[in-house]
Amino acid sequence: MYNIHTHIAGSNKSILNIETINDVVPEFYFSIGLHPWYIEATNQTHFFNQIRKLCCYKNMLAVGECGIDRVCKVDINLQKKVFLKHIEIANKYNKPIIIHCVKAYSDFIEIIKTGINKTPWVFHGFNSNFDIAQKLIEKKCYLSFGSQLLKSSKLQDTFKKVPTEKIFLETDTYNVDIVELYCFAAKIKEISAIKLAKQIDNNFNELFLPKPSEL
Ligand SMILES: [Zn+2]
Repeated sequence: MYNIHTHIAGSNKSILNIETINDVVPEFYFSIGLHPWYIEATNQTHFFNQIRKLCCYKNMLAVGECGIDRVCKVDINLQKKVFLKHIEIANKYNKPIIIHCVKAYSDFIEIIKTGINKTPWVFHGFNSNFDIAQKLIEKKCYLSFGSQLLKSSKLQDTFKKVPTEKIFLETDTYNVDIVELYCFAAKIKEISAIKLAKQIDNNFNELFLPKPSEL
């Protein structure tokens, strides 16, 4: 059962979010990005040089998490600028982006409408309504649901309506059992956990494995 976004190393079916080149574990998939919370404390030139190097690793599956957080105090224009830098790198190395979004869905919809991104986006910890979900799906985005799904009936309603081909599940920083999350999510979809896991396997392959034409 794939875990699309976690900060805790432990499974070869997880994408581990790492913060520096020293955190790379050869047998695990990983992603790396500059989280909006840490933009001001980070030497950007050094960080982006690091990401560029890591993009050549086969087990680096995505750029991120990165994005826009309207609750944190970092200047919003700076956040957008840094996010655009991630898009540039993702485009160049043909990697999807794992997105951190807090109260900024309309910012992303605006950016995506410009057609600047050449690779799909995964909104991690998706926590909004079906209207937003639809707008993102129309633009080839995937939505990843985490522990909030266990708690919010509103989010469960949204989840039920989102096509299974566009869904991922994740534990993020939380102490949630991914198997428990799959079982819970499968109940909402009224399918078996095995069927849901198979569909998410397909989504994973579709998103991350190169198509024969790209080899
Ligand atoms: Zn995270």
